[in-house]
Amino acid sequence: MDHALRRARLAERLDALDLDALIVTSLPNVRYLTGFSGSNGQVVVTRNGSAIFLTDGRYEERSSHEVADLPRTAYRAGYPGPLADACRSLGAARAGFERGALTFDLWERLVSAGDGLEIVPAEPAVEALRRCKDPDEVAAIDAAQRLADAAFEQVVLGGGLWEGRTERELARGLEAAMLDAGADDRGFETIVAFGPGAAEPHHHPSDRALDRGDVVKLDFGALANGYHSDMTRTVAFGEPGGRLREIRDVVAASQQAGIDAVRPGASTTDVDDAARSVIAQAGLAKAFPHGLGHGVGLEIHEAPFLRWDGPETLSEGMVVTIEPGVYIPGLGGVRIEDMVEVTADGGRQIPTAPKELIVL
Ligand code: ZN
Ligand code: ZN
Repeated sequence: MDHALRRARLAERLDALDLDALIVTSLPNVRYLTGFSGSNGQVVVTRNGSAIFLTDGRYEERSSHEVADLPRTAYRAGYPGPLADACRSLGAARAGFERGALTFDLWERLVSAGDGLEIVPAEPAVEALRRCKDPDEVAAIDAAQRLADAAFEQVVLGGGLWEGRTERELARGLEAAMLDAGADDRGFETIVAFGPGAAEPHHHPSDRALDRGDVVKLDFGALANGYHSDMTRTVAFGEPGGRLREIRDVVAASQQAGIDAVRPGASTTDVDDAARSVIAQAGLAKAFPHGLGHGVGLEIHEAPFLRWDGPETLSEGMVVTIEPGVYIPGLGGVRIEDMVEVTADGGRQIPTAPKELIVL
């Protein structure tokens, strides 16, 4: 990954933001700009592209490999003072901080350590860069998804559903398969929902045992090299019944309409509408209570967000999910989710796991 190029792109934006430097404290943003993978690190980047990386003693050794191309400071106490010092040593007089990433307490300490340095809230400049993935990032997301596809194949299609197996057991099974295949971690809390539990969009896996006729809703992903994957599949354990089959067909048509609407220049609200209107036409508008999708990358949920409001424009290189669902209390629910890369002429679906209604 070309971190120096990313810092140069950020430096270009600082001019327009009227900042000499940006104090980056959001961990995914620090990783994006430096490659640092630990749990505590900061970086100051100036408008001429110079930068200083900061961390604590636990990560002095790791950062000497991961951030070998930058001057580094390892501090012992908190980071507000060292961050102000870094700004001064880089010659910055006016520095922005990431308004969404600092607590009030840290902000107060930074301002007091600033002592003559002008410290102002800044727009989310790094997040803006992160919206469009570079080819290395797309490859990393593809690799994370391959781990999830393999787990679906092995665990779900490979005989992992049986009467009496609990949601928690199946969730652990999927996670173990991803870890065994090389994932660094699960990408987020795995959702496994059986039968009526599938009526909750974000069901927490319970000790509910699998029963004949249950739908099985699985929303899971892997974390690999800092990048996430995200996929939902709904299968059936035994014949699910006519109503759930109807719902599944509506959700599948909605999801396809959403994927077909993805292209550079499209508005996120139009993509949401393309999928949502299919569900509305089936009289199920109220049963689809969440947004259509979100960006995926260094964070599992990141910009852009595909919703009915807050229009944004899709651009080549974005990776977004398309995940409509229909949830009927007492009966169950169906969601189908794929990550889609926005390409020059449309969208490329990333997961390869089958999404027809598989009855196991
Ligand atoms: Zn998901
Ligand atoms: Zn998602």
